[in-house]
Amino acid sequence: MKFFTFGSKDIGIDLGTANILVTLKGKGIVLKEPSVVAIDRKSGNIMATGNEAKEMLGRTPEQIKAVRPLKDGVIADFTATQLMLKNIIGKVEKRYSIGRPRVVVGVPSGITEVEERAVEESVMQAGAKEVYLIEEPMAAAIGASLDVAEPSVDIGGGTTEVAVISLGGIVLSHSLRVAGDELDEDIVNYVKREMNLAIGETTAEQIKIQIGCAMPLMTDIEIEVRGRDLTDGLPRNVKIKSSQVEEAIRESISKIVDIVKSTLEKTPPELSSDIMQKGIVLAGGGALIKNLDKLLSIETGMPVYIADEPLDCVVRGTGKTLEDLERLKTVLINARKRR
Ligand code: ADP
Ligand code: MG
Repeated sequence: MKFFTFGSKDIGIDLGTANILVTLKGKGIVLKEPSVVAIDRKSGNIMATGNEAKEMLGRTPEQIKAVRPLKDGVIADFTATQLMLKNIIGKVEKRYSIGRPRVVVGVPSGITEVEERAVEESVMQAGAKEVYLIEEPMAAAIGASLDVAEPSVDIGGGTTEVAVISLGGIVLSHSLRVAGDELDEDIVNYVKREMNLAIGETTAEQIKIQIGCAMPLMTDIEIEVRGRDLTDGLPRNVKIKSSQVEEAIRESISKIVDIVKSTLEKTPPELSSDIMQKGIVLAGGGALIKNLDKLLSIETGMPVYIADEPLDCVVRGTGKTLEDLERLKTVLINARKRR
């Protein structure tokens, strides 16, 4: 129990499908962890969140299940999401004594009103004084300091969000449930099919991050990975090349390219010339896939560049929103709808 709070410290949260980040006003990013929760099956108690819980994914004892509550781009598991939010805010409270903060949360743009309320309630229950929701593409655009009418493509774990932002709001946006997770699955399937080897999602993610590419690299690179032979069940090492990964993820990558192109085609003509000049900004972890910027540039005929620290764009945007809450209130979902 606390008797004194010396002024609240406001926080911004990026509730991503792969990573949850927290920024504290005046301090910057203070927490960055995978969006994973480990739950005791019997009691329903939360055993761990973040890094600790991620290590349990796929190899948890039967008693404990590790879940990614936002895996499919929206809130797939309400209770786990609430527990995770409380736990994360609790961690920040412990380290920084934030008291009763105002909180801005970046949420997927496809979120339903029921989900909005679930997020609001859990943040309130975790001790917030006020909570505001902001669509992730909006936050990403603010975080990347975009000008008016610049399109952004945010490729996260569960979804790819393509948006064109204008003063005070999203002009148009599209969300596609193909992003980093899907690429990992593609790699799992490719290795199974072509090499008769079973690998886990974590290994697939490592392959993607290290050698994955959207277009062939100048020089092909290769790494060795370990899996389980599908015929005899024994562990075996194989070498995999970036050109093979390119082939494995090609179809998903082309879906991402297609959604970017179709969003641009729907852009109002009065914004089109602006957009052609400024180009497209890539955010989210998927922005780092090698040569994706190049491929998108060829396919759209427009300049494409990667935001600084693409994984931090959304949370930086929530932070900037906090600093300028009065002016930016119009872009907040619940402020717009309910106040
Ligand atoms: P979310 O907003 O959904 O939480 P993030 O923006 O944090 O997602 O991005 C997470 C995704 O980015 C994961 O699928 C992860 O594997 C991928 N990722 C992270 N770093 C890289 C990299 N260097 N190259 C390719 N993919 C990456
Ligand atoms: Mg994100």
